[in-house]
Amino acid sequence: MASHIVGYPRMGPKRELKFALESFWDKKSGAEDLQMVAANLRSSIWKQMASAGIKYIPSNTFSCYDQVLDTTAMLGAVPPRYNWTGGEIGFDTYFSMARGNASLPAMEMTKWFDTNYHFIVPELGPETKFSYASHKAVTEYKEAKELGVDTVPVLVGPVSYLLLSKPAKGVDKSFSPLSLLGKVLPVYKEVVAELKAAGASWIQFDEPTLVKDLDSHQLQAFTQAYTELESSLSGVNVLIETYFADLPAETYKTVTALKGVTGFGFDLVRGSKTLDLIKGGFPSGKYLFAGVVDGRNIWANDLAASVSTLQALEGIVGKDKLVVSTSCSLLHTAVDLVNETKLDDEIKSWLAFAAQKIVEVNALAKALVGQKDEAFFSANAAAQASRKSSPRVTNEAVQKAASALQGSDHRRATNVSARLDAQQKKLNLPILPTTTIGSFPQTMDLRRVRREYKAKKISEDEYVKAIKEEISKVVKLQEDLDIDVLVHGEPERNDMVEYFGEQLSGFAFSANGWVQSYGSRCVKPPIIYGDVSRPKAMTVFWSSMAQSMTSRPMKGMLTGPVTILNWSFVRNDQPRFETCYQIALAIKDEVEDLEKAGINVIQIDEAALREGLPLRKSEEAFYLEWAVHSFRITNCGVQDTTQIHTHMCYSNFNDIIHSIIDMDADVITIENSRSDEKLLSVFREGVKYGAGIGPGVYDIHSPRIPSTEEIADRINKMLAVLETNILWVNPDCGLKTRKYAEVNPALTNMVAAAKLLRTEL
Ligand code: GLN
Ligand code: ZN
Repeated sequence: MASHIVGYPRMGPKRELKFALESFWDKKSGAEDLQMVAANLRSSIWKQMASAGIKYIPSNTFSCYDQVLDTTAMLGAVPPRYNWTGGEIGFDTYFSMARGNASLPAMEMTKWFDTNYHFIVPELGPETKFSYASHKAVTEYKEAKELGVDTVPVLVGPVSYLLLSKPAKGVDKSFSPLSLLGKVLPVYKEVVAELKAAGASWIQFDEPTLVKDLDSHQLQAFTQAYTELESSLSGVNVLIETYFADLPAETYKTVTALKGVTGFGFDLVRGSKTLDLIKGGFPSGKYLFAGVVDGRNIWANDLAASVSTLQALEGIVGKDKLVVSTSCSLLHTAVDLVNETKLDDEIKSWLAFAAQKIVEVNALAKALVGQKDEAFFSANAAAQASRKSSPRVTNEAVQKAASALQGSDHRRATNVSARLDAQQKKLNLPILPTTTIGSFPQTMDLRRVRREYKAKKISEDEYVKAIKEEISKVVKLQEDLDIDVLVHGEPERNDMVEYFGEQLSGFAFSANGWVQSYGSRCVKPPIIYGDVSRPKAMTVFWSSMAQSMTSRPMKGMLTGPVTILNWSFVRNDQPRFETCYQIALAIKDEVEDLEKAGINVIQIDEAALREGLPLRKSEEAFYLEWAVHSFRITNCGVQDTTQIHTHMCYSNFNDIIHSIIDMDADVITIENSRSDEKLLSVFREGVKYGAGIGPGVYDIHSPRIPSTEEIADRINKMLAVLETNILWVNPDCGLKTRKYAEVNPALTNMVAAAKLLRTEL
């Protein structure tokens, strides 16, 4: 039985690529240094897979930034503003597209399906010219071959590439990039020809858009594309790889009927109906790449369960046509458990990062041909059993409380307009009240203090004193700026999810479990392994200290359950909503403790609520239902006079506006300044919105300081569609990444703009 890996993380076990990239960008090292680090990473990945016994080893899944951008380079589809004049695309043009340069902004970046990975969105128009401009796929294939590893070159498939593209600036919005199919296929043909000449016997086309809801025209494009490629593809085996969900039934039919294709890769972890689809019919003589090892998570595979799945599949497709694989690229999981020295042995035995997943894939393939590694399988079975029975995982009381929530409703007793009245009596705020989103600049000093406290280099007293000083500075600054509702600045927090995870039970933290988010940026998601509970209050100490420093309202600042869930590695032994309800109950306790401590305004950030939206329309309603319910659970028990805020980091919520209203927060602050029109159009179209709302009035991602006039202008635009008495004035998001030299003048202008408009209203 053969084994296959869809793709592998590029960063390296200790983020070697990150440091090489950043040093290159900072001009501290040259292109050769970067190329050397990259080549070393590639070679060690290939060798690792080869020595683990993997038969189909991917190449061209390495990237110095992003595989979609690599494809843009391959196709020569460089937007004209980068002044590329032809020839092989080098680092200059490549990184200008990825990150911008002194005079040009970068191309847009967006989320890769429902992962936390971001790709560079191709910008195409009727005038876009395509040419074979990056030979990376062939070069990497040859590079591996020279190392003695025959690989499967991986290409982003032509149809997915076009479906992920957007019309370039200045091109009519109704332009469909898919209409360029006939123009990109000739380049794909050249690449295929060159790969064949270099000796490739398989080529993998990643076509993940196949898991989405496609219209018949889009679906037809797949048939058209692979029919047109058929003759070029003769003599080489073709794998169409899909992942992140099952295929809609209609799509499955079309895909499995594609001409010139030798094998199909399906996600058997997220694709809950994949197995049924295959059982319902699989083309005879074709290969099935069965993605049973989860590429999206960090849990060890249940090998015994996978063996039975694979045996069932063997009966359908035949022993020689079944290939054991990962559910998707391992890009979305952590790299290597070997570097985790702080996790205890029990938890470690439950986990498998990318390097361990490769071993699992191979062990499964061997087991199916009677070469079962008994020791490996029994250690795995023991770990699975210990995870099921460990008292660290199960907390009966939490289980009971969370399951009692299902099916019931949780809402505040009074409606939002009555609550706002009650709150106003207590808070006595001016119209167009000003506030910020939570964090203030995190200086080097601050980071050092936190680090030293964690490393026990300074005492608790010293730590508290330092943080208290910082809070008092931030409070004083806000009073001087004359902001109405204050924040404490979050100086004690390293990360808005990690901070809470560290204080909740059921969470573990890796030392090197980094996952690429975009370019050189990585995140290290907490691992939720057990039932979640809150041993003690988490933020009351700092919030009440901050409140004691001022007579103005001080916002309590919490991260919401959906965001904690969506930014963590979540347990796979219970549904996501159950874990979310458990977190909601923990946050509810915190909300109520804050209220008791005299905090009258509490913000519960749901920055990542939208990120959890499933890939298929048919599943959206269910997700939104439990996600919004979880949020309401956190604050359904507070008094009318306690004002609940929430914050969201995106503005494209036109499609989920009714769910956002259903969250029933008293005030919502949202990122907006980069897309005024989009947000305003929701309200222009007549959506009734009665709660407080603070669409960000300036972009905190940029060091640019907005003028008073500019901010006033923005507020005026919002006043045209929103009632004066519900509008708040605030920046787009937290100020953590900015400098005080930027924050001071920007907030000064923001407050001035609010005051100016107050006199005019
Ligand atoms: N309260 C958080 C902050 O200001 C919110 C961050 C976020 O939305 N990403 O940093
Ligand atoms: Zn935000």
